[in-house]
Amino acid sequence: MARAHAADSLPESMLVYGPQGVGKQRVALWIGQLLLCTAPGPEGPCGECKSCRLAVSLHHPDLHWYFPLPRPKGSKTPEKLAAALEEARMDTLAERREEPFHASVPATEPVGLYLAIARSLRSRAQKKPSMGPRQVFVIAQAESLVPQEASQEAGNALLKLLEEPPEGTTLILTSSAPGQVLTTIRSRTVPLHVPPLSRETVLRLLSDVVGTPKDQAEQAAALARGSIGRALGFLPEGDEPGPLEEVRRKAFTLLRAALSPGTAEGLGAAIGFPPARARGLLGLFAFLQEALRDLAAVAYGAQHAVVNVDTVDFLEKAVRDYDIQPLAAARAVDLVEEASQMAAGNVNPQLIVAGLMMDLRRALIVPATVAGGAAR
Ligand SMILES: [Zn+2]
Repeated sequence: MARAHAADSLPESMLVYGPQGVGKQRVALWIGQLLLCTAPGPEGPCGECKSCRLAVSLHHPDLHWYFPLPRPKGSKTPEKLAAALEEARMDTLAERREEPFHASVPATEPVGLYLAIARSLRSRAQKKPSMGPRQVFVIAQAESLVPQEASQEAGNALLKLLEEPPEGTTLILTSSAPGQVLTTIRSRTVPLHVPPLSRETVLRLLSDVVGTPKDQAEQAAALARGSIGRALGFLPEGDEPGPLEEVRRKAFTLLRAALSPGTAEGLGAAIGFPPARARGLLGLFAFLQEALRDLAAVAYGAQHAVVNVDTVDFLEKAVRDYDIQPLAAARAVDLVEEASQMAAGNVNPQLIVAGLMMDLRRALIVPATVAGGAAR
């Protein structure tokens, strides 16, 4: 990127994509700093000029960071809505300044890049930069321009900017679901892939930068799948398990229930869910799919590929007890996918989980072994 910038060949619009929590915003903000730095070198921004210092501390007036926000309540007029969204953006920026590293945890309420956000971004882009000849816009989770109300319009407002960016304006969009980004936006941006980090890199970031104790850092890095944001979600908060660790444990409770001798435990697990807000299941189901992927790996004899390393004993016992075949575990992953689609369609969570528990049981447990392994 630094070389491209030195050769003045950095694209005006980019789409930085890669897994959630892998550091796409960091990369985008770093490119922003590079563009605004007054003395960039071959390795990137100098890190010492006024622009760099302002960019690093998220105070640079020409480095604008936009991200999806919850819809503010009680904002009736478009002006009030725009003002409330801008205030919420400033609050979030203040939080990021305090705590630059944060866990990638699914939002608890629906968020979006609303039309008001796209409009405020566009009107800012029409103004002259404050400090130098350039301004940079970083727009997180570009896919959330789509599924929200008035989305098409919000997309179009941004599209006009991408088509004719004012001189000296660079737009850097990021997405962990680039397939869901409007194709018109995708076709006007140069893609830049941020791959998962190595386990060693995640470990180093946790111990050297975040200051995580060694044993916690190792466990979190093992579960992170190359995502620092994910790793942070596994770190304990005081005496409580981290938010992602909690969901992971819940996913294994479900798998244990599905593999329990009778159907009662599975149905009991279903009753424990609230009767509404099915979308809240999506994060849990993603972890359940990872648990089943690990089960498939163990059934295949590929223990080294297991992500949830602390569950190998349980998975091995399940495979032995029920003669679970790798393909059966792979089919089970599909069943959870179907359940996720129902959850996205807001079916009653208790019904979804009850049905899924029965389906998983049927898919995983070979009937002959339930009858005592007589077939062998
Ligand atoms: Zn600099």
